[in-house]
Amino acid sequence: MIDQEMKKAVLDSFEKVYGKNENVKAYFAPGRVNLIGEHTDYNGGHVFPCALTIGTYGAAAKRNDKKVRFYSVNQEKFGVYEANLEDALNPSEAAGWVNYPLGVIWAFEKRGMKLDAGFDMVIYGNIPNGSGLSSSASLEVLTGFILRDLYGFDVTNQDLALIGQYSENNFNGCNCGIMDQFAVAMGKENNAIFLDTADLSFEYAPIKLDGAKIIVANTNKKHKLTDSQYNARRSMCEEALSILQKKLDIKGLGDLSIEEFEANKGLLTDPDMQKKAKHAVYENQRTIEAVKVLKDGDIARFGELMRQSHESLRDDYDVTGVELDTLAEEAWKIPGVIGSRMTGGGFGGCTVSIVKDEAIENFKKTVGENYLKKIGYEATFYTVEIGAGPEVI
Ligand code: ADP
Ligand code: MG
Repeated sequence: MIDQEMKKAVLDSFEKVYGKNENVKAYFAPGRVNLIGEHTDYNGGHVFPCALTIGTYGAAAKRNDKKVRFYSVNQEKFGVYEANLEDALNPSEAAGWVNYPLGVIWAFEKRGMKLDAGFDMVIYGNIPNGSGLSSSASLEVLTGFILRDLYGFDVTNQDLALIGQYSENNFNGCNCGIMDQFAVAMGKENNAIFLDTADLSFEYAPIKLDGAKIIVANTNKKHKLTDSQYNARRSMCEEALSILQKKLDIKGLGDLSIEEFEANKGLLTDPDMQKKAKHAVYENQRTIEAVKVLKDGDIARFGELMRQSHESLRDDYDVTGVELDTLAEEAWKIPGVIGSRMTGGGFGGCTVSIVKDEAIENFKKTVGENYLKKIGYEATFYTVEIGAGPEVI
């Protein structure tokens, strides 16, 4: 659902910053929330995210020369960033947030798709940044979508996801898996995406929450998902995999059943590494079960699995922290909360909860008050809707 005010604001801003341009077009790419399957996407496991109706709006037009210009309404102070295409394609501190779109241009060029001219771009997001709702993937996919439209590049939406991930990994230095960009690029209204990250096979699963809604709660914790902590988890899983591969014919931790893992976990003699691998294996199996019970209409079991997911991320994977734990644990106490868990990379960011309509007010009030009491600042609650992938608007 396109927010006409956001669309108008991004187009107005384009005109204000760059002047009138009759070729300007407006675009949108969603954010995403992951319902279950966390830290499994770089372990060859399953994930179950959905695109949201909030995301990043863009306005862009091609230029006749080789200049590129970027402006974000969300980062007014940063101002307009201007560069020549030839020298812009290296990551730099000076480029700030613009490293994301530059990384996407760079990744297109790596695939042999060179820009024959520059462009002007303005973006404006209505998704909180750095909160686990993937504003970065939203920005990457939006940029790729704009490049496809402006330069006629022959790429599918799935390619846009892979290009976005490649740029985030190799230009922006975060070794994220494919989930975020895939969920953003392949989103479908009212459907979550059951994705096997081992081979990118996927199916859409309709989310029909009769009498309940998806609520995202933001811890508002200031900077947290440090790439180093994320990357450290990832290397520990890779090490566990290489040890297990000496005995087992597997390509990823997602290939292991719980029984196989339990029978072989003794090979992982470092207890911390064993816990990380355990999460990857169990979380993958939980995600497979969650999609099955959802199809069977057993939403209560889906909620239990969300809780187990959070507990595993708290106790074994160690990526929650007191803010996320408080939001989830307070939510579990509220009657009418079907399930609640952290979503995204962790260390702060957001929880996702499924809450019955009649319980939503009490949920926000009680969880909000108890969070403030314990943490000392407020959480923010959003009722979110499942939206579609990127589009020209
Ligand atoms: P998340 O993807 O969970 O929101 P990240 O830390 O991965 O968090 O990405 C957030 C970064 O993405 C921001 O710090 C900023 O550099 C960039 N970004 C995302 N949306 C915008 C926007 N609307 N304007 C400027 N930068 C943005
Ligand atoms: Mg991100």
